Amino acid sequence: MAIAKKESQALAKQTFEYAPAPEAIDHVKIQPRYGLFIGGKMVAAHSKKHFPTINPATEKTLSEVVEADEVDVDRAVKAASKAFESWSQLPASRRARYLFRISRLLQERSRELAVVETMDGGKPIKESRDVDIPLSAAHFFYYAGWADKLEWAFPNRKPRPLGVAGQVIPWNFPLLMLAWKIAPALAAGNTVVLKPAETTPLSAMVFAEICMQAELPPGVVNIITGAGKTGSLLVSHPDVKKVAFTGSTEVGKLIQRSIAGSGKKLTLELGGKAANIVFEDAPLDQAVEGIVNGIYFNQGHVCCAGSRLLVQESIAEPLLEKLKRRLSTLRLGDPLDKNTDIGAINSRAQLEKIQGLVESGIEEGAELYQPECVIPERGFWFPPTLFTNVSQSYRIAREEIFGPVLSVLTFRTPNEAVEKANNTPYGLSAGVWTDKGSRILWMAERMRAGVVWANTFNRFDPTSPFGGYKESGFGREGGVHGLLPYLELN
Ligand code: NDP
Repeated sequence: MAIAKKESQALAKQTFEYAPAPEAIDHVKIQPRYGLFIGGKMVAAHSKKHFPTINPATEKTLSEVVEADEVDVDRAVKAASKAFESWSQLPASRRARYLFRISRLLQERSRELAVVETMDGGKPIKESRDVDIPLSAAHFFYYAGWADKLEWAFPNRKPRPLGVAGQVIPWNFPLLMLAWKIAPALAAGNTVVLKPAETTPLSAMVFAEICMQAELPPGVVNIITGAGKTGSLLVSHPDVKKVAFTGSTEVGKLIQRSIAGSGKKLTLELGGKAANIVFEDAPLDQAVEGIVNGIYFNQGHVCCAGSRLLVQESIAEPLLEKLKRRLSTLRLGDPLDKNTDIGAINSRAQLEKIQGLVESGIEEGAELYQPECVIPERGFWFPPTLFTNVSQSYRIAREEIFGPVLSVLTFRTPNEAVEKANNTPYGLSAGVWTDKGSRILWMAERMRAGVVWANTFNRFDPTSPFGGYKESGFGREGGVHGLLPYLELN
């Protein structure tokens, strides 16, 4: 029985009404203007240029940050090179102590960090509070544990650090991506210069304060803000020995070209177009929760998002009915409200990209479903969206939308599911929903994806390596594998 629009509206009205539950923000001090974190302190920039960072839910300016120029980048890399001499010689257990200290401070300041992350990036507070910040602290804890065990991790290989790591991160998980990059680099004995994304620099600025609070030796971590130009100056600096980048495939390719032949080590964690595959024997209610978490978590600003739902034809109708019902219960609005499920889109540019791709889906002939929801007057918003009647050739089935938009396709046999799932230039993640363990293993063997989740989606753990195949990049972050890109082995 298909769910009619009228019925969906009635259902939406039946769902719980929640009183507003905004997270307090009075304990958070965002400075009106930040400098650069170089050599262990906040310094004024050579460039003298600043740009605003705004709250995408209100479009109000939160603060101003520096647009670092060539001289600033050079100062930061020089500070990191100098610090490398002593940091790499420090007994490993002392390095571990600093990492433990940082993780404890992240925990102590977690409420403040969650608010900053939500205000600067637009994600719901329940996600920054329950996912981003605890996982960031967990990464530092985890790699603190490895710092003095590198000889055990790579026996008889004499692991040695590389030098200065230049790290460029995106805006979807600002603090978490910072932790994924900085924790293994420091544990392995390297020093770092990190550039956060233009639209989400503030949690990195709080992290700079945490480095000072932890009395981390000057220059071990340096943070420079700016746009793409600053990032490209950093990765091409001759004294940077290792480049780690997370972001779009397009920029990843540019970086790979620009450092080719320089001898720099490179890891790229790029885009994705993951298939979330539901077989007819799957527990449907559980699968619906997994589908929702897979694509609407963080407004779909997730490189490993389950943006293509592949559902076995025999259960397509009941599954879609359940899914549409569930969508009508998602609450879109103030990201600082603890009951919000769908927050603000990170920037106007990203909103326009999502709108453009959704229009292309309609034009190409897909059928759009959006539940009733009230869009706030100010800020950047996009409702949870589902497309049926999608062909594999449509742009919405091929391109990374990076928004709350799901494309639904069907299959009849497991072989067809594998073929459709792998029919993408990307290869970051996949999900399989089935009652049969043997089918999970059969599918996992055939998926060209760095991570395959079984009867779950978007689960992260510092002990588990994450990374892609094909145009999703190369190299792994997390786990013992995540140390390798920061070490030279004999
Ligand atoms: P980018 O890849 O441009 O940004 C990622 C990071 O790289 C940012 O810090 C950015 O700086 C920096 N950067 C940009 N150009 C260069 C360069 N030439 N050299 C070095 N660093 C550079 O992503 P966008 O923010 O522009 O988003 C565009 C699209 O990319 C999104 O719509 C989404 O589809 C995809 N994306 C995918 C991500 C993923 O994890 N898979 C993450 C982010 C985006 P700045 O922010 O200042 O421009």
